[in-house]
Amino acid sequence: MKRTTGQDRSQTQSWRPATRAIRGGTWRSEMGETSEALFLTSGYSYDDAATVAARFQGDEEGMTYSRLQNPTVAMLEERIALLEGAEACRTQATGMAAMTAALLCQLSAGDHMVSARAAFGSCRWLGDHLLPRFGVEVTLVDAGDTAQWEAAIRPNTKVFFFETPANPTMGVADLAAIAEIAKAHGITTVVDNAFCSPALQRPMEFGIDVVAYSATKLMDGQGRVLAGAVCGSEQFINDVLLPFQRNTGPNLSPFNAWVVLKGLETLDLRAKKQSENALALGKFMEDRVPTILHPWLDSHPAQALAMKQMDACGPIFSFVLDGGREQAHGLLDALKLIDISNNIGDSRSLMCHPASTTHHNMGPEGREAMGIGEGMLRINVGLEDIEDLKEDMDQALKAIGL
Ligand SMILES: *Cc1c(COP(=O)(O)O)cnc(C)c1O
Repeated sequence: MKRTTGQDRSQTQSWRPATRAIRGGTWRSEMGETSEALFLTSGYSYDDAATVAARFQGDEEGMTYSRLQNPTVAMLEERIALLEGAEACRTQATGMAAMTAALLCQLSAGDHMVSARAAFGSCRWLGDHLLPRFGVEVTLVDAGDTAQWEAAIRPNTKVFFFETPANPTMGVADLAAIAEIAKAHGITTVVDNAFCSPALQRPMEFGIDVVAYSATKLMDGQGRVLAGAVCGSEQFINDVLLPFQRNTGPNLSPFNAWVVLKGLETLDLRAKKQSENALALGKFMEDRVPTILHPWLDSHPAQALAMKQMDACGPIFSFVLDGGREQAHGLLDALKLIDISNNIGDSRSLMCHPASTTHHNMGPEGREAMGIGEGMLRINVGLEDIEDLKEDMDQALKAIGL
């Protein structure tokens, strides 16, 4: 195995994002394969006993066991790190394995975390239920109101955890301002960047310490596998995350890593085209629905901040109907092309009703506090022809009287 000709970190770092997404991190075996090899192996064998001893002692580089290293997984990790502009990355079996690892690897009993109120349902569960069981206190804030982060800090605050734009309310948080407050207090910032992917938003450019992903979303992008990733400094990944990850084993399978590697080859194209479609569909619907939550539209309260942080609007936006659950379900049932599905980042257009699906477990009060009403719908806009998407949306809106 060797890196593809002439590839070293200094060369790959000079590449622009689309080139990194296709060639970054590639290793080639003696077969000279063009597409990355899939190493579906749990173990490795050694020429002699001294070699294996040297590897276990860390004196020699090389594979020892796939919970610790795997060539296909390593290629994906190097590629994601390059796309993110991070020193290092490690992948996990799912986005939630990534979020859990990113938090549990650094929090201990007696620590305090400040977390965004509006978040992916399972991310909220970590703070609401899991961390308190282990003696970690959690304070919720409205992520878009920067002053609330500062006000929530206690002497034992160790982590700030949030996503932007937030799911499904599309609230935008100020990455640079929150990172600055955290740095002044020695707090580690962890951002869930699943909605954007590194093709659209790189939180580290704004001073964020740790970026965690559901790579299930835009990175795979074709609705095939679950995957997660955590990016950070060499120090954070090697000294803080790796001891946790290597001993608890939330690893990504080599097969799924390989699928995501293939997904990354088209990430830049897909993220830009899906954003273009999402903007066109948002503009098309803007005057037909009572409320639209779309970071690129003038009606969004943090449009300027979104445009500063993100390269494009991303594939996801939400909107709110006046007729509550009945009308929202009516729109879903009237769709002929767009699927009813709670996944996002897929190349297919998908729509869901958060109150009865992704955020059902939060209960009515929890949803109300997060700004998720019964009339809210969230759409992931895919790669289909925009005219077909507009036609489907048009006939479905007409079917519910809009
Ligand atoms: C999907 C998602 C997750 C969880 O990722 P999985 O791969 O489904 O485990 C976490 N955060 C956000 C914002 C997501 O959209």
